[in-house]
Amino acid sequence: MSRIRMKTPLVEMDGDEMTRIIWQMLKEKLILPFVDLKTEYYDLGLEYRNETDDQVTVDSAEATKKYGVAVKCATITPNAARMDEYHLKEMWKSPNGTIRAILDGTVFRAPILVKGITPYIPSWTRPICIARHAYGDVYKNTEMKVQKGSKAELCVTDENGEESRELIFDFKSGDGIIQGMHNLDASIASFARACFNYALDQGLDIWFATKDTISKKYDHTFKDIFAEIYETEYRQKFEQAGIEYFYTLIDDAVARVIRSSGGYIWACKNYDGDVMSDMIATAFGSLAMMTSVLVSPDGVYEYEAAHGTVQRHYYKHLKGEETSTNSVATIFAWSGALRKRGELDELPELSAFADRLEKATIDTIESGVMTGDLYLLSSLENKQKVSTELFLDAVASRLCEAM
Ligand code: NAP
Ligand code: MG
Repeated sequence: MSRIRMKTPLVEMDGDEMTRIIWQMLKEKLILPFVDLKTEYYDLGLEYRNETDDQVTVDSAEATKKYGVAVKCATITPNAARMDEYHLKEMWKSPNGTIRAILDGTVFRAPILVKGITPYIPSWTRPICIARHAYGDVYKNTEMKVQKGSKAELCVTDENGEESRELIFDFKSGDGIIQGMHNLDASIASFARACFNYALDQGLDIWFATKDTISKKYDHTFKDIFAEIYETEYRQKFEQAGIEYFYTLIDDAVARVIRSSGGYIWACKNYDGDVMSDMIATAFGSLAMMTSVLVSPDGVYEYEAAHGTVQRHYYKHLKGEETSTNSVATIFAWSGALRKRGELDELPELSAFADRLEKATIDTIESGVMTGDLYLLSSLENKQKVSTELFLDAVASRLCEAM
């Protein structure tokens, strides 16, 4: 059997702990036997980030801009404990944050569904993909406690020094609290374009919701920018693709999501996306079955698993104990990246390989072979819990048969 040749390299971002172990095994067992893999490798493991003063993260993001497609392993975001553990020079920022800022991207998260694991909402038979606007609002707010007798106002000073004021509240009768937040038209527009592009890419409807009836300037601006970009740049393309852009109020959206059968992208403002993505992940069953892709407005894609480095399992692994860590979301990060590379390079055999890899993974679980996290959830009668490595072996042998 000859291996599939690639044209353009993938940007490969290695990572930390258990997912770094999985990364190596996955490449050896599931990719290299079938694909003559071309990657430009960046080691985002915390040690090397520290050694390079985090320059490697910036370089990997720049390479992603250049080549258009990246696949990323989960990485440690340092905290105080990691400062000691890894003798860090600095508490380096989250690599995902750095990469997102450079690519100006939007993150789309979607669950992988398998037979035997029923979502808590049983009518959800297709994935619900969440897109979260990752800029501004309450995440970059300014807050104050206000004492009785104070008057709180919003005051904006324009470039000529002219002030305009609006009363927030007159705290005559008691103490209270206030909050100021902002967003940028350009950031909202870039979020809208990323969402519309991804909907076209996936052939899925897209929903968006705010509270524009109550927030007549702030939330209404989100609604208006989405509507204008949709009308001027996307309506025709959506009609040709047979997909829809649907806007409603956030509370109506939540009610409709619960009643729906899934199969669409749900674009959320920053806070809504924070809350709803955890709700969706839990309701579909397992964080280990959640994929994530960062899409920039100019069509650059970075694929990863939504979960972290699975530190607890890694410490078991270091002690020589057997682990049963789920590699499915990491496998789908690779398949997503290879499929996209295949599409961009007009290599249908590479995209077909990605499809086969995903099918082999799902068939393995549906045949009853799964890691411990899924074993606890699955209703299959013939289910069998296997180790991290044996699961990858089982997928590899199915993949071999399919090739
Ligand atoms: P985590 O790595 O997602 O793991 C939390 C728990 O969820 C695990 O202990 C495990 O539960 C379960 N789990 C997650 N993924 C699993 C998988 N693939 N297979 C089986 N079980 C899985 O989150 P964390 O422990 O909070 O964070 C660990 C490190 O990851 C941190 O340093 C954090 O900064 C980093 N992180 C990175 C990313 C990213 O790069 N995108 C995202 C989140 C967190 P049990 O222990 O009960 O088995
Ligand atoms: Mg959250």
